[in-house]
Amino acid sequence: MQFSKLAEMFDRLESTSSRLEMTDILSEFFRTVEPAELRQVIYLSVGRLHPEFYPQELGMADKLVLKAIASVSGRTPKEVEDLWIKTGDPGEVAETLISKKKQMTLFSEPLTFQAVVEGLTLIETATGKDSQDKKMKHLARMMHDSGPLEARYLCRIVTGRMRVGAGAMTVMDALALAFATKEQRPDIERAFNITCDMGLVAETVAEGGIEAVRKIGVTVGDPVKVMLAERLRSLPDIMDRMSGRCAFEYKYDGMRVQAHIRKDGAVKLYSRRLEDLTSNFPDIADALKEQLIGQEAIIEGECVAFDPATGSLLPFQNVTHRRRKHDMEQTVEDVPVRIFMFDLLFHDGKDYTLVPYPERRAKLEASFSKHEGPGPDKVGFTTRAVIENEEQAQEFFDQAVAAKCEGIMAKSLEDISIYRAGSRGFLWIKYKKDYTQALVDTFDLTVVGAFYGMGKRAGMYGALLMAAYDPDTGKFGTTCKLGTGFDDAFLAQLPDMLSKYRSEKKPASLDAEMVPDVWFIPGVVLEVSAADISISPIHTIAFGSVKEDAGLGLRFPRFTGRVRDDKTPEQCTTAAEIVEFYQLQEERDSDSPEMGDEEPSE
Ligand code: AMP
Repeated sequence: MQFSKLAEMFDRLESTSSRLEMTDILSEFFRTVEPAELRQVIYLSVGRLHPEFYPQELGMADKLVLKAIASVSGRTPKEVEDLWIKTGDPGEVAETLISKKKQMTLFSEPLTFQAVVEGLTLIETATGKDSQDKKMKHLARMMHDSGPLEARYLCRIVTGRMRVGAGAMTVMDALALAFATKEQRPDIERAFNITCDMGLVAETVAEGGIEAVRKIGVTVGDPVKVMLAERLRSLPDIMDRMSGRCAFEYKYDGMRVQAHIRKDGAVKLYSRRLEDLTSNFPDIADALKEQLIGQEAIIEGECVAFDPATGSLLPFQNVTHRRRKHDMEQTVEDVPVRIFMFDLLFHDGKDYTLVPYPERRAKLEASFSKHEGPGPDKVGFTTRAVIENEEQAQEFFDQAVAAKCEGIMAKSLEDISIYRAGSRGFLWIKYKKDYTQALVDTFDLTVVGAFYGMGKRAGMYGALLMAAYDPDTGKFGTTCKLGTGFDDAFLAQLPDMLSKYRSEKKPASLDAEMVPDVWFIPGVVLEVSAADISISPIHTIAFGSVKEDAGLGLRFPRFTGRVRDDKTPEQCTTAAEIVEFYQLQEERDSDSPEMGDEEPSE
């Protein structure tokens, strides 16, 4: 296959915002590609050579890419840089300048898809003192053989800017359309959720059809998409929803870790956004391996920092010190951490994801031995009890808060309580102490735009346009303009933090009415608190869900100071959660007239 064929397909995807149209473009294309090539196409369409969880070293600095563009186009470094300053996108620079060059000279041989995969692999694996120079030359070589459109995508891929607007949901729709039926799409989605590898799923369905996809199972070493919890506004509501009986666990305020302990003794720890955290928690990895009864397992738990003098648990911010890249040995000592395990997904050849929670929990508890030798036990289980009435629920919640936890996690004990990879549902319901403090709750939102500041904030960003995610449509929608809660240090570092996501135009994955001074592709996630949610004519999240021709907006949003770099933009608060919040608030306000006296929310 020629790379130009793929570049043209990317271009067509980028020029539409209709999910149906994207599905058609993709499925039509998928049918024309060999299964093994399809796997690579899937990875490349999000700028990767491997599945998402595989560490990738492709990232080339913009300046290095500009150098390659100058060498291929024959333009001066200044000309190239000027255009880059104007557009902010090396892809656009390459497309403009390479096209001009192509009018003057003939290029040697058309660039094949295989040559691109090989060239990018060389860029990824270049090491040594002159590795930067090697990367630059590999890129230049590919661009030498490429037309303008291919150059656009090559430069976007190597600088981590590859976003053609088609999300995982759309890709799965297209796979179902091309190789299966609409009814079989849930099988495709489950395979993706338990492997996190869309390339593998695509190749499997293209080669062996849906039967082959159904045989895909959990693999120790490959992360499984995490199961998520719904929320309700009160403990009685939770007990009601759980038909009067369920398990409660402490909800620890730490970092979620999915641990894979392999037969060969290797351990891998993944964050909820599939980043490899093994090097950040080497002590936890060792302890898990040591105390596992059996040979291999996948478990989940929350890593929490504690005060070694008192044994008391410390808030989330403390465990984030472990995210440091350097001086890990010292950090391990300075920031002692324990893991509180709450689930088991796999053990010695058996997949437990379809087994109900009580059985998974029993197996989890039977699969780890007590710590022997000096030092504290780094491995434990979440504190848990079976709850059968409201008094017990309240008592357990109070205990959890006293133990420095965020609240509780209620878990269904019914036969349907399987591990639902990648989905949020009422099998788990969270209830945090924040909810008891009247209206305030927090939302994880992604930055999609910025407004230049005025007065004291002149010359920097003064406010941000924030969006939530709608997994049903695969699109982001705006929900507030955020201008409070920032300190000077944060404002100063914002431009750097956001620069790599800067976009010339509104990102294809975003629905927005409000137009900021600068657009950003969803990348950075911030935690935002808000007083309440109101129907908004200008914001687009959950558009039409509560009221025709209106979305939902957060009122009095405030940055909490927490950058959620453990979450991807797709793991932001969802449209459905915001709707739910809105409805809870409406119910609550109608329950308590003194609050309902406030100004109406419309
Ligand atoms: P949230 O991040 O507010 O959506 O809450 C869900 C998170 O709570 C999970 O992703 C875990 O990181 C964390 N968590 C803490 N304790 C537990 C528990 N006992 N069971 C499940 N998740 C827990």
